[in-house]
Amino acid sequence: MKIYNKWMKNSYEIVVATIAFGLGIDKPDVRFVIHFSLPKTIEDLYQQAGRAGRDGEPATCIVLYRLSDYLKHTGFAKSKKDVQGASDVLNYSLNLEKCRHALIGFHFEEDNNIQCKSMCDNCLRSTKPESFSLKRACTEIYKTINDAKKKEVDLTLIKLLDSWLKLYKVQILKEDAEYIIAHLLSNKVLKEEKCYTSYNVICYIKNAYETVPEHGLDVQMIRNAALRRYLGPPSMEIPHSRKRKLEDRDEASTSNTSKVIVINN
Ligand SMILES: [Zn+2]
Repeated sequence: MKIYNKWMKNSYEIVVATIAFGLGIDKPDVRFVIHFSLPKTIEDLYQQAGRAGRDGEPATCIVLYRLSDYLKHTGFAKSKKDVQGASDVLNYSLNLEKCRHALIGFHFEEDNNIQCKSMCDNCLRSTKPESFSLKRACTEIYKTINDAKKKEVDLTLIKLLDSWLKLYKVQILKEDAEYIIAHLLSNKVLKEEKCYTSYNVICYIKNAYETVPEHGLDVQMIRNAALRRYLGPPSMEIPHSRKRKLEDRDEASTSNTSKVIVINN
């Protein structure tokens, strides 16, 4: 309460707290909301991000996340709705193509033709995402999981990453490898399987199909040099509509003042 009062009076400029602190906050001049993990649902994200910029002045919401946040949410999910909620947030975070305001509008079945043009990372990004195939990565990951299965070993995310990168001498950052697995989970090519222990829930990564499927392997990503070497050339051109949107982004709309940025950290 002491911290809350000092923050409300602007004696403290920054508060690091759990989301429980944010509930009921109605401070008009909050300029930043920074999530240090993935919210459980789009509704949670929207509500929590909405604590910023209530005075109508520019404000920024940044989501820093890792795939383990998603696995934690699905691991502790009590219903299919909880799993769907976590899945929606993961899909939202991995989407580098559409305006984030449009994605939220689509989720709430509102106008999804919104183009903020300058108030989200997807509209602002100068490096265009490229479409390419994850077939090579998926084939290696499927084999890694199958090899472990033959030895009656299940792989958590950490063990899968270690085994895959070591077995196939993959020269990419672990964060990028994790990002690839996130896309394969998001596209239901891989799946999670929960195992309950006395103290915890362990999430294993499993193949969703017997063999590598033909679908769900084309994704949009921004590649660094190592990823470019590993994944090869883009599988297709960026759609023309996307190019046009990027070119149009200077014609910024000023109607929306909250900037939304999602970062895989
Ligand atoms: Zn946007």
